[in-house]
Amino acid sequence: MNKLDSSLVSAALKDKGYELTDQSENADIVLINTCSVREHAENRVFSHLGNLKHLKKTNPSLIVGVIGCMAQRLGSELFEHETVDIVAGPAQIAQIPDLIEQTINDHAKTISITDKIRVTGTEDLSADLDDFEFAYDSDDNHIRSQAFVRIMRGCNKFCTYCIVPYVRGPEVSRPPHAIIDQIKKLASKGIKQITLLGQTVNSYTFAENEKTYTLADLLEMANEIDGIEWIRFITSHPKNFDESILRAMADLPKVCKYLHIPAQSGSDKILKAMNRGYSADEYLDFIERAKQIVPDIAIAGDFIVGFPGETDEDFQATVDLVKKAKYKNCFVFKYSPRPGTHTDKKLEDSIPDEVKKQRNTELLEVQTKISEEDNKKFLGQTIEVLVEGPSKKPHLNKTENDNNPQLMGRTATDYIVVFNGPESLAGQFANIKIIKTAALTLFGELA
Ligand code: SAH
Ligand code: SF4
Repeated sequence: MNKLDSSLVSAALKDKGYELTDQSENADIVLINTCSVREHAENRVFSHLGNLKHLKKTNPSLIVGVIGCMAQRLGSELFEHETVDIVAGPAQIAQIPDLIEQTINDHAKTISITDKIRVTGTEDLSADLDDFEFAYDSDDNHIRSQAFVRIMRGCNKFCTYCIVPYVRGPEVSRPPHAIIDQIKKLASKGIKQITLLGQTVNSYTFAENEKTYTLADLLEMANEIDGIEWIRFITSHPKNFDESILRAMADLPKVCKYLHIPAQSGSDKILKAMNRGYSADEYLDFIERAKQIVPDIAIAGDFIVGFPGETDEDFQATVDLVKKAKYKNCFVFKYSPRPGTHTDKKLEDSIPDEVKKQRNTELLEVQTKISEEDNKKFLGQTIEVLVEGPSKKPHLNKTENDNNPQLMGRTATDYIVVFNGPESLAGQFANIKIIKTAALTLFGELA
C-alpha cells in the first residue's frame, strides 16, 4: 500500500516538473512516506529526521515532508518537529504537490490530515483519491511490467493490536468500473501483472446497477483484459472468505494460485484477545478447503509473537499450526504496542523482548524446514517466472554465463527464482529449469 502511495506521489511530482533523486544531499525536497504498524518503523523515521536536521544546516531551503500513516497518527507532534515542513496523511496524498507549492511560496509549514478519521464522511476524499490514482498509476512502477491496483481503502476489522483502522480510516471499496478502467489503462501501457490491494481484500463489496460486486467478480472481469497475464490480490482475512474466490482461483487462468492469508496465532485464547473472529481449527479447515479447491495453491501467512499474555503453550499452538498449514513462507513479527489500540489500552506488553526474539527465531526455523522440504519438489522442473530484474547479487556466476548477470523472478505462486540471463529479460516471462533449491530461493538456468 505504501509502495503504491509513494509511486503515485512521485509520478504526480514528475508530472509537475520535479525530478527524482535518490541522494538526499542533492534534493530540494525530501518526502518520507511512513508506516505505523510497528514502533520500529516509526523510530527509523525519527532517526532519518535527525540526519536531515544536519542537512538543513548546510541547505537551509531544504523542504522536508512526512507523509502517510505516521503523519496521520502523530499530526501536530510531527508538525512541531523542527525539521518537518509538510505533514500529510494517507488520505491527503493527492494534495502533496499543492502543499509543496504552498510551503515554497509562503515560507511556512503546512499540514493536511483527516480530523476524526473514524467518523468523517470520506466519500468526497475517496473520489479525489480515485482521480489521483487513475491519473498517476503506472509511470513510476517499482518493478517493470507490474503494477498495484488499490481496490479498497481503510479497514473495519479492528484487530485489537492494529493501528491501521485509525490511520487509514473506515473501509471503502472503489467502484468496479474505476478499477477495471484502470487495469485496462495499465494493460495498454504494457503492464502484465497486477496486484489488487486491500487490507482485507476478500471483503471487497460494491453495489452498482442492482448488482453487488465481490472480489470474485473483479477477478473474473480482470481475467478478460487483454495484455494482463497474471492477477494477484493481497491481503486476505480468514473470516468470511467466500468460496467463490477460491473457485475463481481454480478456474480463471490468469489468477495466480497464491494466497496471503495471515493467521496471526495458533492459540484460540490469543486469537480471541486479538479479535480475529476465528479459531485455529476454523483457520486450518479453511486452508484444507483452499488446497482441495485450488490444487497447487501456495499459501503465505503472518504471525505475531509475544502478544500480551502469550504463554509457552500458546506459542506451541502457533508452532503446531505452522506445521499443519505447511505455508510456502511466513512473515513473523514481534508484538509492538501501538498507542490508542485496544490491546495497548487494556493489556500490558508483558512478554520480555528476549522471549519475543526467541519465539520469532524458533517459528522462522520451523517454517524454514518446511520450505526447504517443499521447495525440493521443483528440482528438475521447468517453471515460468516473471522476471523482475537483477538479483541482490547480480555479479554471481557472471563470467560462466557470457557476462549475463544473475536475475531474479517470481513464479505465479510467488516462489523466488534466481538465474543468469540478459538484463533485457526484466519485465518479461521466462522459462527456468530448476537445478538447486534452498528454503527461500530456487536456483535455475534459462530453459
Ligand atoms: N491488513 C493486512 C496487513 C496488516 S499489517 C492483514 O490484516 O493481514 C501487516 C502485518 O503486520 C499483520 O498481518 C500483522 O502480522 C502485523 N502487525 C500488525 N500490527 C502489529 C503490531 N502491533 N505488532 C506487531 N505486528 C503487527
Ligand atoms: Fe489491521 Fe486486522 Fe485490519 Fe489487518 S485486518 S489491517 S491486522 S485491523
